[in-house]
Amino acid sequence: MTSTTSTTSIPPQDQPRVIFAGAGPGDPELLPLKTHRLIAEAQAILFAGSLVNPAVFAHCPPTADVADSAAMDLETLCDWMITRVKAGKTVLRLHTGDPSLYGAIAEQIRRLKAAGVPYEVIPGISSFLAGAALLGTELTLPGFTQTVILTRMSGRTPVPEKEALEKLAAHRATLVLFLSTGMVEKVAEACLTAYPPETPAALVYRAGWPDQQVIRGTLATLPEQVKEAGINRTALIYIGDCLQGQGEDSLLYHAAFSHGYREGHQ
Ligand code: SAH
Repeated sequence: MTSTTSTTSIPPQDQPRVIFAGAGPGDPELLPLKTHRLIAEAQAILFAGSLVNPAVFAHCPPTADVADSAAMDLETLCDWMITRVKAGKTVLRLHTGDPSLYGAIAEQIRRLKAAGVPYEVIPGISSFLAGAALLGTELTLPGFTQTVILTRMSGRTPVPEKEALEKLAAHRATLVLFLSTGMVEKVAEACLTAYPPETPAALVYRAGWPDQQVIRGTLATLPEQVKEAGINRTALIYIGDCLQGQGEDSLLYHAAFSHGYREGHQ
């Protein structure tokens, strides 16, 4: 049997390219130093204006070519990047949170490859991590769950049937839903097929922005609370017993547990 390995080679730093970078959830301080530096040196920035906070790139040079992709279609935004790279500029493509989650980068990468334009990806802090931080909780709580499922409800982008929320809910792991705030009733309905109604549930709205909001309830109460708050977008739904903050202690710090860095004792 033969096996093949493949790595995406990062283009040399002086080669004009597209850099997909995660702009984080909104707070300009929740940005990797690397992305902060690339913004400070940027020649061209194309940002996803529907969610990226412009405060994140406020320190870019005044000479930088900056555009918002919110009103562009795929061909237009790819042409914007390709034209600039071919003219010798590096384009910083800023996506909200981390680009690998619901970032629509795959289709952009396909077009860049077809045009012979090199690219690299720099991670960012996903909104689901900023939300967990606001909730002040551990999502993988020993005794309850060791799994986090990141998913969404079907919208204009369908979710494959094998990942229907009822099927994922059957695991009773920690569930985090992106892009589903407007469907919180349906989310609760699907989850109630597996989780008891008193299961803790929360909604985190615009984590990392000055108007961020956290709503805590249960699977039974959350839809009504969200409706009352009038929130229908830019929020994440968290479901699972980990939100109540109990659970068991981990073995990692248990006095009797030995590992590579510590001898356990009775
Ligand atoms: N790549 C992004 C997700 C983009 S999809 C990330 O890693 O966070 C857009 C969805 O992400 C929104 O509908 C919402 O569910 C969530 N989202 C993005 N920013 C958010 C924020 N600051 N607070 C809460 N949810 C957010």
